[in-house]
Amino acid sequence: MEYQDIREQVVQGCLAIQQKGLIRGTSGNVSVRSSDGTAVAISPSGIPYEILTPEMVPVVDLAGNIISEGKKPSSELPMHLMVMNARPDAGCIIHTHSKFSIILSIIGEKLPVNTIPLIMMMSPDPAPIVPFEFPGSPELGAAVVEYLGDSGHAVIMEHHGLLTLGKDLGEALTIAEYIEEGAEIAYYCRLADGKAKGIPDDKVAEMMKILMSGRAL
Ligand SMILES: [Zn+2]
Repeated sequence: MEYQDIREQVVQGCLAIQQKGLIRGTSGNVSVRSSDGTAVAISPSGIPYEILTPEMVPVVDLAGNIISEGKKPSSELPMHLMVMNARPDAGCIIHTHSKFSIILSIIGEKLPVNTIPLIMMMSPDPAPIVPFEFPGSPELGAAVVEYLGDSGHAVIMEHHGLLTLGKDLGEALTIAEYIEEGAEIAYYCRLADGKAKGIPDDKVAEMMKILMSGRAL
């Protein structure tokens, strides 16, 4: 099978976001770029992840032309390709409908830097909120690219969900889990005392220096 490795990674990614509770049903999608950078495998539209096989995963070029047949690509293909084209460092893109991230976007609460992993994802925010646009639209793709900028790894799309990018599947997945963890913590903090609260700015700056230097905390 052509592009077997990236097709298998898409299946693996879809099963992972389902098992980790980051999506319900067939929502969400995963794309993985080939090592030569020219091809992108993306999850197909509407196929239950339990029955998804690598053969069903379509492969497209960076303009969206099918270069290896599978089922119909996800309706969010335009967004994935716009991000892949804007960010050559993106080897994998994950889109989830993560519950607590969606809640923060609906109540208009920016995800604070409230956990240690989020310090490494600041750019300057770990996951800025992208104002609502229709799913599958080029407007949504353009807004996501804008809010990711040159170095962001995650955005929360208002009323919709999360998009993360990483150099590979493992990194994109880990970022999706940490963002959702931070969002869940922020939500419960608000319930507990009305404030989402981040780590104090001076402590964040200090910890950033320690983490960047590779020293153990
Ligand atoms: Zn979606």
